[in-house]
Amino acid sequence: MNILRYIPGFRSNVRWKKIIAVLYYLIALLMFTSSWGMGLLFLAAPFIFFSFVDVIRHKKKGLTLTKALLPLVLSLAVATVGLANMPDAAPTDTASIQTQANKQEVNPAQKTEPVSETESEKVQPVSEEKPEDQPGTVTPVPEEKPQAATETMVETSSNSVLKLHFIDVGQADSILVQTPKGKTMLVDAGNNADGNAVLSYLKTQDVKKIDVLVGTHPHEDHIGGMDTVINAFPIGKIYMPRATTTTKTYEDVLNAIASKGLKITAAKGGMSIDIDPTVKTDILAPNSSSYDDLNNYSAVIKLTYGKTSFLLDGDAEDVSEQEMLAKGYNLKADVLKVGHHGSNSSTTPAFLKAVSPKYAVISVGAGNSYGHPAPETLAGLASTGVQIYRTDEAGTIVITSDGNTIKIDKKASPVKPQAPPVSSGTASKSSSGSENKTVVVPVPAPSKEKVTPAPLQPSKNDVTVYITDSGEKYHKDGCRYLKKSKIPIKLSEAKAKGYTPCKVCGPPQ
Ligand SMILES: [Zn+2]
Ligand SMILES: [Zn+2]
Repeated sequence: MNILRYIPGFRSNVRWKKIIAVLYYLIALLMFTSSWGMGLLFLAAPFIFFSFVDVIRHKKKGLTLTKALLPLVLSLAVATVGLANMPDAAPTDTASIQTQANKQEVNPAQKTEPVSETESEKVQPVSEEKPEDQPGTVTPVPEEKPQAATETMVETSSNSVLKLHFIDVGQADSILVQTPKGKTMLVDAGNNADGNAVLSYLKTQDVKKIDVLVGTHPHEDHIGGMDTVINAFPIGKIYMPRATTTTKTYEDVLNAIASKGLKITAAKGGMSIDIDPTVKTDILAPNSSSYDDLNNYSAVIKLTYGKTSFLLDGDAEDVSEQEMLAKGYNLKADVLKVGHHGSNSSTTPAFLKAVSPKYAVISVGAGNSYGHPAPETLAGLASTGVQIYRTDEAGTIVITSDGNTIKIDKKASPVKPQAPPVSSGTASKSSSGSENKTVVVPVPAPSKEKVTPAPLQPSKNDVTVYITDSGEKYHKDGCRYLKKSKIPIKLSEAKAKGYTPCKVCGPPQ
């Protein structure tokens, strides 16, 4: 039996019909490459048409009705499957952006935000969240919405916030970004010893995959834990600057990348990262191909979501800042992850002016040996009225944006540029209300040339120390006893749990 007898175009053995049929089936095959649903539909269409004709003329053709109906039913079934799997069945990218935008407009969470109508474009209605551990509410935060409203808010807004976690990894960097569409980006992964701490943090945040992994530059305090992360999670794309070093740490990362068959995309200023259509993700540095200092190779990333923006500076120093300014990039951002742990080699006045952040995050280890952050950097930030958040004081800092409003789940640094340096353990935990309101007062003119150093450990009970899973001592970041296990803990909590200070590293007491 000749199978061609059943295929439209070949049934009658007429040459021109066959040519048309071949061309048509080729088009159908092409359709499969764009969408298999579309392909099926194209393939089924001639069968439907001709078997329908057969059904009508079955008597003339000497067929029984059942025999004529069978191909029609079969081809209709195939077409239905194809139709159900057409790309149009699911919203296209642009369509979902639209829905997203509409959703935001009606998002009840935003309606209740204190967004002032009179505010100009420049002044963004960025507000700070009331810290949850504050006993007496003094901040004029609008009343919590009633239960029902809260629930709908959670439902609709869970998809529409951009969330940045500045993970407390001591004297190092690690930033988790969760986009409104559920994508995940990890910028740096702390020191070698932080790998597991970063992993467990990612797991608590329900991270299943890292869509974009960025190693800002090959220093241990940025890429140290990256191999652990690469081995533990499916990874989408990896961005790193074209900079090499000969350290074992760097080698470990390269090996982990190679063993998973991944490739590194070279991060360069002017590129953008395609992670979530609702979050514009740009790489602003490095802008040269070689630098004296490895820090200046840092991939600098700017995230823009709605009216809010975040600038993640890595360890970029003055040289790179100057280049970013010269490139004419839009550096303006609400939140600045201060470059190089707040060292005085970064955050030059011109750069700070261009960014003009409202909030600054400094990822830094308590009592680190480098003296980060530099008093002059703190004073510089303070003089522009920026609220400073430090991981050595606040632990992990989570910042969310709904596109209009930025919320920070921590208190701003109690650092006041005027305050005398605290040298002994007498610094007491400031009472709740006042601490939260710490608005950094601009440094008055006379003190400008001689920058008043800010206390390095302003509130000793708030600093993070580290314990091990078996020991009874608590340690300073970088202590040799933390090689095997390193669990961050608040000093006050460590003391409350009966941990005593390590005699080797002499942590804050
Ligand atoms: Zn660093
Ligand atoms: Zn560095």
